[in-house]
Amino acid sequence: MDVEAGYDPIELYSKVKKFIVRVDVDGVESRRYYRFRGGRWYGGIATGDVVGCNLRCGFCWSWRDASHIMTKGFFCTPRETFNRLTYIAERNGYRLVRLSGGEPTLSRDHLLQLLKHFNETKYTFILETNGILIGYESDYAEELSKFSNLVIRVSLKGTCESEFQKLTLAKPEFFNIQLKAIKNLVDAGFMPGERVYAAVMLSFSSDESYMHLKKRLAEIHPKLSEDIDEEYVILYPHVVEIMGRRGLKPKIAYNPNGIPSSMI
Ligand code: SF4
Repeated sequence: MDVEAGYDPIELYSKVKKFIVRVDVDGVESRRYYRFRGGRWYGGIATGDVVGCNLRCGFCWSWRDASHIMTKGFFCTPRETFNRLTYIAERNGYRLVRLSGGEPTLSRDHLLQLLKHFNETKYTFILETNGILIGYESDYAEELSKFSNLVIRVSLKGTCESEFQKLTLAKPEFFNIQLKAIKNLVDAGFMPGERVYAAVMLSFSSDESYMHLKKRLAEIHPKLSEDIDEEYVILYPHVVEIMGRRGLKPKIAYNPNGIPSSMI
């Protein structure tokens, strides 16, 4: 990976996929996971944490277990994943399930089969994604639009191309691919603010660049600029460690107990 010139997240995806996806003789695609858990996010949700990502964010909380290390964990078929998530949800009375940890869209067939299992159940499925593949592969958003209980949160890495490169070390033009993912989803019928919305890592951003991003989102759909999920770095020790190695200093960050903290 040539981090000086900026890596290509699509090329990285091809390399990562070999480690985190397995197809059996019947053509069923399994994905590598590292844990399943319940938790308080979104008011209570069952989560499957996948291994592997096509970005290398310098603030990633999951890099140690899931996003940057591709040989950990265990494989699950879509049916096994469905069973694990619904077991946790049933025991805790949750109505929400999600995939998180690394990047769930890297195992496209696995994800689509899993969504089929959840379709027309009582559960809402939240897909947390960096959006790169949904922006890059023109028919991915159309495929996802078949599932009416799916909500997609596209997590933008910064507010502009240069911030994106600083935070991910990837080629800056892939920030546009993240925005394209949101546009593809809106064009495929996902209602902005209800079934698709942007989350933005703002710990390293100026007010001015955030305003500019809001304008870019509003050009896709006005509602997108009104319903942004603002993300800030949480200072877990391993996150502080990776940020230190990457020379990243957040303007705003929070301690794991939710108290604002300044690292400057
Ligand atoms: S896109 Fe998400 S999972 Fe991947 S490295 Fe960035 S923060 Fe981690």
